[in-house]
Amino acid sequence: MQVPAYVEYEKATSVEHALALLARFGPESAVLAGGHSLIPMMKLRLAQPETLVDINGLTELSHITLAGGQLRIGALTRHAQLLGSALAGEHFAILHDAEKVIADPVVRNWGTIGGSLCQADPSEDLSAAFAALKATMVIQYPGGSRTVPAREFHTGPYETVVAPGELLTEIRIAVRPDGGSAYVKVGRRVGDWPVGAAAAALWLSGGVVSEAGLGLTAVGARNFAAAEAEEFLRGAPATEASFARAGQIAAEHCRPSSDQRGPADYKRHLASELTTRALRRAVRRARGMDA
Ligand SMILES: Cc1cc2nc3c(=O)[nH]c(=O)nc-3n(C[C@H](O)[C@H](O)[C@H](O)COP(=O)(O)OP(=O)(O)OC[C@H]3O[C@@H](n4cnc5c(N)ncnc54)[C@H](O)[C@@H]3O)c2cc1C
Repeated sequence: MQVPAYVEYEKATSVEHALALLARFGPESAVLAGGHSLIPMMKLRLAQPETLVDINGLTELSHITLAGGQLRIGALTRHAQLLGSALAGEHFAILHDAEKVIADPVVRNWGTIGGSLCQADPSEDLSAAFAALKATMVIQYPGGSRTVPAREFHTGPYETVVAPGELLTEIRIAVRPDGGSAYVKVGRRVGDWPVGAAAAALWLSGGVVSEAGLGLTAVGARNFAAAEAEEFLRGAPATEASFARAGQIAAEHCRPSSDQRGPADYKRHLASELTTRALRRAVRRARGMDA
């Protein structure tokens, strides 16, 4: 049986307390949210923090609300809460699409949105969804906070802009009319990480795409996004031909690698096909033709 190395444990009682604990114990401390990623990494000695700062008691970080024209999701919100949120589903069906295919009920019941994003796995599902939605991340540090666009949040595999001593506290998504969104994933089996997945959010003006956001995960897309395909779609007719072309462009610009989940060529094919499918579903939702 694998067991983590000896570690100190502190339970935070507020965001300020958590930040104070992180400052006190320094870069050798780690935030403990759901622990579904961190604890296995500790068992494998891929992570060896000296102190765990448990944020599970911070109810102020567990919320899904609409405020200031934005959907606001607290970093400690569990996957299951997001999946069960009618408010989130009403505005961004993509979030329910993604949550339905993340892991299994055990992981979804305790794993958090903030933990998923901060883990920064290159195959993480919500990173692509938030990239498509052009979300904003709120990061708190002692005495203040800053915001970072979702596309600037990850600095590499398993790395983010959240510095030691900081906490991701909230994810914000602007709510705008006439839009639709969708997430489509291919995995090897139910509850598995994606072989490839695509996220689409688009807004219509008549029959034309006025704005588009495209996300990709597990296929080596820069910042989990397909910026060149978005550029192509802006002002294009919202037609099957445009969506197929956007898929091709998305595939041309990603850099998948061959691994145990599949060969690079297959993943590139998925990037194209899944982008097209996600756009097809998103436009139906924008037109009120699909739930
Ligand atoms: C069996 C299994 C299957 C899975 N399948 C999928 C899948 O299909 N798709 C998918 O996307 N994911 C999948 N996951 C990943 C899962 O979603 C994450 O493990 C989990 O949600 C991470 O969140 P957590 O709250 O458990 O984070 P933790 O494990 O507690 O933390 C992860 C990292 O983030 C840091 N951290 C956590 N919260 C914060 C914060 N607020 N501020 C700053 N740093 C923070 C921690 O210090 C740690 O470094 C799977 C996991 C498992 C175990």
